[in-house]
Amino acid sequence: MAVLEKKATQDAIDLENKYGAHNYHPLPVVLSKGEGVYVWDVEGKKYYDFLSAYSAVNQGHCHPKIVGAMDAQAKTLTLTSRAFYNDMLGKYEKYASEYFNFDKLLPMNTGAEAVETALKICRKWAYEKKGISENEAEIIVCTNNFHGRTTTIISFSNDEVARNHFGPYTQGFTKIEYDNLEALKDALENNKNVAGFLVEPIQGEAGVYVPSKGYLREAKALCEANNVLFIADEVQTGIARTGKLLAVDHENVKPDILILGKALSGGAYPVSAVLANDEVMNVIRPGNHGSTFGGNPVAAAVAMAALDVIKDENLAENAEKLGQLFRSELNKYIENSSIVKLVRGKGLLNAIVINDTEDSDTAWNMCLKLRDNGLLAKPTHGNIIRFAPPLVMNEEQLLDCVSIITKTLKEFEK
Ligand SMILES: *Cc1c(COP(=O)(O)O)cnc(C)c1O
Repeated sequence: MAVLEKKATQDAIDLENKYGAHNYHPLPVVLSKGEGVYVWDVEGKKYYDFLSAYSAVNQGHCHPKIVGAMDAQAKTLTLTSRAFYNDMLGKYEKYASEYFNFDKLLPMNTGAEAVETALKICRKWAYEKKGISENEAEIIVCTNNFHGRTTTIISFSNDEVARNHFGPYTQGFTKIEYDNLEALKDALENNKNVAGFLVEPIQGEAGVYVPSKGYLREAKALCEANNVLFIADEVQTGIARTGKLLAVDHENVKPDILILGKALSGGAYPVSAVLANDEVMNVIRPGNHGSTFGGNPVAAAVAMAALDVIKDENLAENAEKLGQLFRSELNKYIENSSIVKLVRGKGLLNAIVINDTEDSDTAWNMCLKLRDNGLLAKPTHGNIIRFAPPLVMNEEQLLDCVSIITKTLKEFEK
């Protein structure tokens, strides 16, 4: 039996290797089922999911309310394109605009598309409202950013693996150091053609870098003083992940443009959105922008259900509470550890930094051991492991996970 089971895993991996482009390097585990905080592999082994599909599955795997809404809508009407109106989109736009306190929403599908949309809106606003000369608009971005994979977005990435050999690159971006207000001030004051500042409230892919207290609030104030749009990419940090509905809420910042994706559907379906007030959003007119699937009725139904679940189940509060517990428990372990340097994060978006060289494979090997011990996580850049379970976890499960993690880390202590 065991041999057969192993074969199921190997067969699935072999298929992907042979017929799929090699654009990812997955941990060797083949999943076939999910429910709540758990996933199961093709051999029937159960795991805690500590990645949550990069924070798309905040509401837990296959949440019945979300799947139910998707199922019902899929049997009724799936796609009309925006050539015609549909009876779900307006309801969703009203629901989400009020939920996040903006005038309007522009619906897209993936996170990268929503980032692209925000950049286009920002540029158009710069030419039509701010009065910047045609083709002169600059958007400030941060080093070590992650905003997706399109040609324009990788143009301002400093991840050479994501960027090399994909040029020529899109112009019009100025890169400054993250969490550095002086650098932002200089960039804003030295160039009157700045239209926007695009920032992740916490840099997720880079390794869960939490900026200094006050950074977002001050950055927003600087943008306001310079008539520059503050664009928050909350594709990963948004929708209760960090212990508030949005990560900018920790500093009471209201972005001029808000970008959402991932957990907007609870991982059931690709749904992303850009939100802004009329003054900004109204620069978009018929023909300026669009997407065949953007705003389709299934996406609308799924997103409303996914946002309902966040409130119904108090997931922001739960993320805040369990996040505190997680970091305090791991800090107890780290006090006597030589292999883990620190734990950082907010809510249930956390990471540990491994005490080893950047190019060592310690973090990868730890993730293999964590898998063997029943918990799935993945290294991010360098020797960092992100821990981001679904937000529907309870305290008992979290403590069980802490014991799996500390037991695993112990195997690596020198
Ligand atoms: C994942 C992510 C994106 C891109 O989303 P996709 O759906 O993969 O295109 C953009 N910004 C941030 C901060 C992300 O974490």
